Amino acid sequence: MTGATAPPDGLPLPYRVVRRCPETADTATFKLLPAGPALRPFRPGQFAMLYAFGVGEIPVSVSGLPVGEPALVHTVRAVGAVSRALYGLRAGDTVGVRGPYGIGWGLERALGCDVLVIAGGIGLAPLRPLVLEVLAEPGRYGRLSVLIGARTPSDLLYRLQTRTWSAAARVAVTVDRPEAGWRGDVGVVTRLLGRGGWTPTRTYAFVCGPEPMIYAAASDLVGAGVPPHRIEVSLERNMRCGAGNCGHCQLGPLLLCRDGPVAGWDRAEPLLAVKEL
Ligand SMILES: Cc1cc2nc3c(=O)[nH]c(=O)nc-3n(C[C@H](O)[C@H](O)[C@H](O)COP(=O)(O)OP(=O)(O)OC[C@H]3O[C@@H](n4cnc5c(N)ncnc54)[C@H](O)[C@@H]3O)c2cc1C
Repeated sequence: MTGATAPPDGLPLPYRVVRRCPETADTATFKLLPAGPALRPFRPGQFAMLYAFGVGEIPVSVSGLPVGEPALVHTVRAVGAVSRALYGLRAGDTVGVRGPYGIGWGLERALGCDVLVIAGGIGLAPLRPLVLEVLAEPGRYGRLSVLIGARTPSDLLYRLQTRTWSAAARVAVTVDRPEAGWRGDVGVVTRLLGRGGWTPTRTYAFVCGPEPMIYAAASDLVGAGVPPHRIEVSLERNMRCGAGNCGHCQLGPLLLCRDGPVAGWDRAEPLLAVKEL
């Protein structure tokens, strides 16, 4: 690796939290700036290993890539020790960052196609930079549809921003359990596919969320006529090294940190179909 900004291989670099935006009761979005040298640029769908000093390190996708600055944006949901420590960071705190890791979304393969984004829960985080890239260059793609599912209305991420997407895209939102005042859809996100408004033969789809949701969404898309290689999914496994060395994230022949986490459904489906692979 060469260049003034190249990090020592695999070592976390210090980044400073410059902004913390609470999203929900257990999720916050952080803008990080390098405290010294910066990592190489990230692409949508790639992830970093974020190190909460003294606690541990976890994979977290980039949820935003501000243009023209070396900033990284990450959205963290507190589910365990490390993610809770990251969630608790405040502006001015320092975090260790390694990356970029993984292959990103294959947005270049969707050129000229209608783009269909299906997100469940925190799965919207890795898809947000992809949506922003499509919105920034509308002439390169057909119609953009964004289907979002969450457990409850209080769990919806980026609420103000997703509303603004409606000006240029078809945005549909559903929740598993409504709360007082919710007048939107209730039910699993795949139900929104049944509404129409998208054309399978022209569609390139990007899907991220819990594995059962990915499975259901991809199966419905294939059933409707979208070829499996035009469905990309982002898979989660236990990741440690990020560089394809330790084998913790192996899924059949794939080391997901290196060969994924994004995979075409033509590759992912046969592997996910094998129990406990
Ligand atoms: C490629 C990749 C990208 C990711 N991107 C993001 C992201 O952008 N934002 C984000 O918040 N998380 C993301 N994750 C998930 C995140 O890495 C895990 O939540 C984290 O590793 C949990 O570690 P922990 O120490 O906090 O909890 P642990 O102690 O490891 O787990 C605590 C409890 O939470 C459960 N748990 C672990 N992971 C998850 C999960 N993903 N969802 C629900 N329950 C879980 C465990 O089963 C356990 O019961 C990503 C994971 C991968 C592999």
